[in-house]
Amino acid sequence: MKKVRTRFAPSPTGYLHIGGLRTALYGFLYSKMNGGDFILRIEDTDTARYVDGSVQIIYDTMRDSKIMYDEGPDVGGDFGPYVQSERKNIYTEYAKKLVELGGAYYCFCSPERIETLKDDAGNMRYDKHCLSLSKEEIEQKIANGEPYVIRQNVPESGTGTYYDLVYGEISVDYKDIEDGILIKSDGMPTYNFANVIDDHLMGITHVIRGIEYLSSTPKYNLMYDAYGWERPVYIHLPPIMKDAQHKLSKRNGDASYEDFVKKGYVKESIVNYIALLGWSPKGNVEKMNLDELIQNFSLEGIGKSPAIFDETKMKWLSGEYIKEMSDVEFKEKAYEFLKQSKAYGKYDEDKLLSLAKGRVSIYSEIAEKIDFLEEFGDYELELFENQKQKSSIELAKDLLPKIKSTLESLQDWNNSSLFNALVELSASLEVKKQALLWIMRIAITGKQSTAGGATEVADILGKEATLERIDYSINKVNK
Ligand code: GLU
Repeated sequence: MKKVRTRFAPSPTGYLHIGGLRTALYGFLYSKMNGGDFILRIEDTDTARYVDGSVQIIYDTMRDSKIMYDEGPDVGGDFGPYVQSERKNIYTEYAKKLVELGGAYYCFCSPERIETLKDDAGNMRYDKHCLSLSKEEIEQKIANGEPYVIRQNVPESGTGTYYDLVYGEISVDYKDIEDGILIKSDGMPTYNFANVIDDHLMGITHVIRGIEYLSSTPKYNLMYDAYGWERPVYIHLPPIMKDAQHKLSKRNGDASYEDFVKKGYVKESIVNYIALLGWSPKGNVEKMNLDELIQNFSLEGIGKSPAIFDETKMKWLSGEYIKEMSDVEFKEKAYEFLKQSKAYGKYDEDKLLSLAKGRVSIYSEIAEKIDFLEEFGDYELELFENQKQKSSIELAKDLLPKIKSTLESLQDWNNSSLFNALVELSASLEVKKQALLWIMRIAITGKQSTAGGATEVADILGKEATLERIDYSINKVNK
């Protein structure tokens, strides 16, 4: 069997959006599961849409997400150049060949003439006007320096049929396909031409790309057939929707990989989630790192129906990855986000991180989980009133001085010694320990819910700050 070769062929038009990265990921997974090659090709022939810096974004995103290619502009390979704007001569040569084969023709029609072909809605169908030019006429016009394009010569009748691995048999009547431009007047190819030439010359066996190319594929097949080349296997991917009505698209500014990393998602979880957008694994397991994805991926699992991008689910996955992380890894990855908390620099950072770790799904939630440590101030006395915890303002008035003296004499200041001391105190006072811990928590945080129990918080605050806060609260309940 031929070695599997897949490619990702983005146009450098801005951020690498989620849909693009999914295409890359599926191509990567399919090649890797078959011991094949994954190629990156930059499709930059549409200069009007070119955005400076976006090629670098593509390189960076693919490396960062570990969807790494074996061949590409910045890593080389035997099938280069891998940037289309550097392949102009190749396209010219093959376009000429296609003209000779009857699959394309020179067109010298002026923009004014093209204008007259437009219908009321502004749609244009080229009328094959230049197809009838003789060889001599064409040579003469070229010699005169007349501008021209090269158009595909699509049959006027008949049907183009092929089998797509996801969407099944696709048929398009040639009468519905127009003689599109293959080479523009500036000598640059259009996507419609370049994708065929490059996929063939680069030995691509499986073309994996978005559904928007499903119905134009018959016109590409006409070219493969005209050259006598083997058609690749086609795998078109379902669209990714923001919701039932709206497509997720970079034109609408929908998020890119980079945005989600900035938002604090675990990188592996983004890739993991993207894999699930249109592909369903066989078992129930959805959390899979890249190696597991390579092992489990299958083209049969790709569905036809649009995938809905569900950020809540991605967040859940991210949280699952955090749960599995070692403290060391969490610290390394979360540190930049820890810095955004008001509590940063004020307390032991390892304790802050462990307070946050089991409680966040994405790193950027760290601040909101631990900022409370630095937000102590005036609070509602009513917070002490809690029937469920068997707590009241009266009880707080009674217990707080006792808690204070217990803690003052405590030797080791850590979560478990604090906890033991307070449990002992509650037993000797014959009050429910949950009531005492509730009162302690309100007294040192002023909040009814915080990350971490009263003693964990007291441990982080340290003895001095904890006792200060208890004093403040004793004053408050006695006012
Ligand atoms: N350059 C095309 C795009 O960005 C690639 C389509 C393809 O994979 O063939 O949409």
